[in-house]
Amino acid sequence: MEDNLENKLTSKKQSGWLETDDNKFNQIFSFCDCYMNFLNHSKTEREFAFNAKQLAEENGFRDINTIQTLNEGDKVYYLNREKSVYLAIIGKQPIENGLHIVGAHIDSPRIDLKPNPLYEDGELAYFNTHYYGGIKKYQWTTIPLSIHGVIIKANGEKITINIGEDANDPIFTITDLLPHLAREQSTKKLGEAIEGENLNLLIGSIPILDKNVKEKVKLNILKILNEKYGLIEDDFVSSELELVPSFKARSLGFDYGMVAAYGQDDKLCSYTSLKALMELNTPEKTAVCILTDKEEIGSYGNTGMKSHVFDYFISEILNKKGENKPNLLDKVFCHSKMLSADVDGGYDPLYRNVSDKYNSSFLSKGITLNKYTGVRGKSGASDANAEYVAWVRNLLEQNNIKYQVTELGKVDEGGGGTIAYMLANKGVDVIDCGAAVLSMHAPYEVASKFDIYEAYRAYKAFWESV
Ligand code: MN
Ligand code: MN
Repeated sequence: MEDNLENKLTSKKQSGWLETDDNKFNQIFSFCDCYMNFLNHSKTEREFAFNAKQLAEENGFRDINTIQTLNEGDKVYYLNREKSVYLAIIGKQPIENGLHIVGAHIDSPRIDLKPNPLYEDGELAYFNTHYYGGIKKYQWTTIPLSIHGVIIKANGEKITINIGEDANDPIFTITDLLPHLAREQSTKKLGEAIEGENLNLLIGSIPILDKNVKEKVKLNILKILNEKYGLIEDDFVSSELELVPSFKARSLGFDYGMVAAYGQDDKLCSYTSLKALMELNTPEKTAVCILTDKEEIGSYGNTGMKSHVFDYFISEILNKKGENKPNLLDKVFCHSKMLSADVDGGYDPLYRNVSDKYNSSFLSKGITLNKYTGVRGKSGASDANAEYVAWVRNLLEQNNIKYQVTELGKVDEGGGGTIAYMLANKGVDVIDCGAAVLSMHAPYEVASKFDIYEAYRAYKAFWESV
């Protein structure tokens, strides 16, 4: 009797694995094999955007710029400066009834090169760097790093760089002080022990054979780069070169139940949403997928979510569908729904004191819904309306998708934000919806395979709903 009452009234938050049958278990594992493979080829926003475009084209999506008219069922994408992508499947209902949007970001914390990066010191050659996004600097020393990105010569010629991924490639690293001489360093605060100005990448040691040259190792590096890519030192000023961990995504644990990989914030959500969109039949409401850039540094710039390029994409859809009225774009947004797809800092038993365990996200307990994000008193949060939370919750329950409603850390501990409020400002109903991650923003982030698959199912169910 009492047992029944408990079952009926109390919230059940057990591991999703306990509710996973053999069939689903196999689906989860094969889905995550594809996910890990995609991550290994999509470590930067440019690589992700390129691979997303390829996948979209294979699935019948066309560049919206090449199309004059749009009809129900048409699939289009817009590639914004090779760093963000917006995709859509035109629904059965008029656009003015609203869109169903899933938005994720494809940039991840990393280390960028400075515009004048190359120097020699102590007969070693280095690249000077400037980190991108919120990193704990000490985590990025003494690990193998790859160099990814582009160099654009003054004549417009573009050179694509990807060094450190192939087993035959060299890797690069940022050195750290040996413990024997770290007496002073080890008394410093964690955030200050490694200085940003000292995050310099070791790139070479062999001098050129020319006794008249002062910086022989530096010149040898330039000679190698010139022979291989036709570069001169000044070409670095018009480059975007990013340092990312060179290790591969791997299954984690004796049970293989987790994924350890670089960049799961937020490629976990961008991959799962992209994948769900690829498998979607013509929806009722037009389905839109945002894969945006620059989230980790505030969503600024013309590839970030704060730019008007997304509005332009939706305007183009309206124009090409022949739907046009004054101020229609505002109406579209005010009738739209969105899942802001971003990962959440999961409950870590090693650091339990920063979390409220009744409101934390746990690995393997399903997708996370954040009604609000923000910092100390919800500052900066869009805070989803209870009505919309109920709508999303009902959708997930109807589709048997496991979810948890959570917030990031204890009230005064800190916090964070996503792109949610930028769309909410346009009038869209938005809630954050992602997966719990451990070691978020570290070179190697950890997520549960159960949650990764559940995120994919959630985004698909959202787009399929009315
Ligand atoms: Mn994120
Ligand atoms: Mn982040």
